[in-house]
Amino acid sequence: MPESPEVQELASFLTAHTTGREVRAVDVLLPKALKTQHPMPADLVGRRIIGVSRLGKMIDIATTAASGDTLHVIVHFGHDGWVLWHDVAPKGLKRAGEATLMARIRLSDGSGFDLTDAGQWKALSIHLVASPADVPAVAKLGLDPLGDEFDTAAFAGILANRKKQIKALLQDQTSFAGIGNAYSDEILHAAKISPVTHAASLSRDAVDRLADATRDVLAEATSARRGVPPSELRATKHAALRVHRKTGAACPVCADEIREYTFSGAAAQYCPTCQTGGALLA
Ligand SMILES: [Zn+2]
Repeated sequence: MPESPEVQELASFLTAHTTGREVRAVDVLLPKALKTQHPMPADLVGRRIIGVSRLGKMIDIATTAASGDTLHVIVHFGHDGWVLWHDVAPKGLKRAGEATLMARIRLSDGSGFDLTDAGQWKALSIHLVASPADVPAVAKLGLDPLGDEFDTAAFAGILANRKKQIKALLQDQTSFAGIGNAYSDEILHAAKISPVTHAASLSRDAVDRLADATRDVLAEATSARRGVPPSELRATKHAALRVHRKTGAACPVCADEIREYTFSGAAAQYCPTCQTGGALLA
C-alpha cells in the first residue's frame, strides 16, 4: 500500500506536471470507484489544476474555475492503487499498463494521467468535494509524522492509555496519518520495539525512541524518494526497506534472521534479537 513517503513524492510530481493546466476530459471507467454523486466528473472539465497535495496516504488534486470556486479530487489508493503518468495521453480508453484503468484525466496540453488499481479487489476511491474535510477519511486523519505538529509530546499523548498493539496503532489513520504495513515494520525495528506490545505499556524511554524512529524513518524515506518518478517509486521503496518483506534475510543491525508473522491478515516482519528478546511471534 502506498504510504506517506511515496505519496508525498507522487504529489510533488503531479504538482510539477499539472499545475496551471486545464482539465480537458475525465473518464471514470469503474463507476464504483467514484464515491460522491455531485458534482460529476464532467464538472471538472475546463477547470485549472492549482496544485496536488498529500493528506495521509491520499492525494488532493485541487482545481479552480474561472469564477474562483475550488473543487477537490481526493484519491485514496487502497492497497494497490497508483498513478500512471502520460506526457501524451493515449487516445481512447485502453489501459496502458498491467493494472486496471480506473480513471483517466486528460489535460489541456495533451498530457494526462491514469488512476490504476493492480489488486484483486479494486479499492481505489475518488471523491469530488468542495472541501477536503468533506471526505470522512480526511476529516478523521490523525497526527502526521511529517507535519509541523508532530513532536514527542504529541506522539506520547496519542499512545497514552491505548491498549492497542503498537503496530496496529501506528497504522490506524485516525491516530497517525500516512503509515502502513511496511513503514510500521521499519519504524518498530529502528526503535527496537516488539510490534505486539500494547501502546500503553511502553516505557517513557521506549515512547521517546519510537517517536524519534517514526519521524526519522519517514523523513529519511521521503528525502530519499525525492525526484524518483511515480513509475519507479514502488521498486525504490522496496529496495530501501530493512526488514519489511525481508523474511529470511540477515538483520542489518544484528545479523539475526528476519522473521515473518501474520498481523491483521497481512505478512509483517521483525527481528527477534532486536525487537522481541528472541521470542518468535505466532
Ligand atoms: Zn536485529
